[in-house]
Amino acid sequence: MSTSPVESRRLSLLSVVVPCLDEEQVIGETHNRILSALDATPGFDFEIIYVDDGSQDSTLNILRELQQADQRVKVISLSRNFGQFAALTAGMQHATGDVVALIDADLQDPPEAIPEMLELWQQGADIVRGLRTKRLGESKLKIWSSRIFMRTLNKLSDTTFVSGIGEFGIMDRTAVEAFLEMPESQRYLRGMVSWLGFNQEVFHFERQARLAGKTKYSFRNLINLAVDSTVAFSIGPLRFITWMGFLFSGLAFLGFIYTIVAILVADASISGWIIVLLSILALGGLQLISLGIIGEYIGRIYNEAKRRPSYLIRERLGFASERDGE
Ligand code: UDP
Ligand code: MG
Repeated sequence: MSTSPVESRRLSLLSVVVPCLDEEQVIGETHNRILSALDATPGFDFEIIYVDDGSQDSTLNILRELQQADQRVKVISLSRNFGQFAALTAGMQHATGDVVALIDADLQDPPEAIPEMLELWQQGADIVRGLRTKRLGESKLKIWSSRIFMRTLNKLSDTTFVSGIGEFGIMDRTAVEAFLEMPESQRYLRGMVSWLGFNQEVFHFERQARLAGKTKYSFRNLINLAVDSTVAFSIGPLRFITWMGFLFSGLAFLGFIYTIVAILVADASISGWIIVLLSILALGGLQLISLGIIGEYIGRIYNEAKRRPSYLIRERLGFASERDGE
């Protein structure tokens, strides 16, 4: 439910957070598109926070120039590549707006949708999330596997995940504060926002192909992301191990009874090294998988136990105090 009364929803400042990794080819055009989309909507001020996530190309230099030219532009430069979710978190932590918008730097998400999302906010939505009705410029394999993954995750987890929802969207200040209170350092943003609750609305849009450059997510990255988010949002795999344990003990028990009966009644000699070999292989494999699953969780606990920050800042431009990192 909405925590802030709808009548008092007056937008004085909008913060737009844009994570950037090696986006020199598009960032200038992205900036222009965001500016014209927001300038066309009068009635509120805005700031654009670009978070440079350890780019190796000239992205940071371009961002510096944009910042020099326009005081509404702010730049956070992370000390290395921390990942899109960490970059978004950094931007949200520095955003001061009543509403915070999250948008990719490659113009796959249309900036023109932000004013339309703001209307939903005005009507009482605390979080508005973009739902891709079409995904242009993405491989069939990527779309198909992400759909299957979402379905599985939904089954495994108590949190509801909607296929086709990404990071693109806006959040009310109360929801942003709630999000920032979540202390985990590995931040699977989509899932975390779903977990938040509040009054969430969906905004349908067509996802364009990247304007230029190429995706920062290889298939391997996506598989890692899938494992991370499953482990982060479900203990289902652990429970699966327990069930498998019951299943195999049950089978062994039945086999045991069968053997005894066979020996007593039919006087059969139960032999067959194949059976022995197969059971060793099956059980051995299962044990390794189980250890692997448990290992994933322990690895996560280990990472969280270190309590490291999810990102480090090298430089901040356009903020009141520019040098102190976080
Ligand atoms: N990005 C980032 N850090 C990363 C990977 C990506 O800041 O480690 C940014 C990237 O610059 C872009 C957004 O996150 O603005 C989405 O990345 P990308 O377009 O590569 O993902 P896709 O749209 O292919 O899922
Ligand atoms: Mg993209």
